[in-house]
Amino acid sequence: MTGLPLPQIDERSRPYWDGLAQGRLLFQHCESCGHNWLPARDACPACLAPNPSWQPSGGTGRVVSWVVYHTAYHDALKDRRPYDVTLVELDEGPRLLTNIVDSRAGAALRIGARVVLAIEQEGETALARFRLAESKRP
Ligand SMILES: [Zn+2]
Repeated sequence: MTGLPLPQIDERSRPYWDGLAQGRLLFQHCESCGHNWLPARDACPACLAPNPSWQPSGGTGRVVSWVVYHTAYHDALKDRRPYDVTLVELDEGPRLLTNIVDSRAGAALRIGARVVLAIEQEGETALARFRLAESKRP
């Protein structure tokens, strides 16, 4: 069985991946202007101040937009079709591309839907996925 391609983890992004492995979603925060963002960068994308800090997210946010993939562009995704790729905005501001685990391949999604963090393990890697806040857990 083919696994998903692994993320390219470097010194800049390692705190993000280590945080997920420990059950926390971290984002970067600018001490100069207060901007929050993902993915990891060396400088603030708003004011270019260096040395951002890492802050833990409360793990809640909303759906901004999504697409549904019916074509697998990697063998590891063949058995998962169709699946959503969703843009989530955390309540703290950062946006990330993710999957909504109970989206029924996007059918259950709507713009603005509240979501909560649902970290899932893919092989050795913990991924930040989300589930719909209003959905019932099985
Ligand atoms: Zn800044």
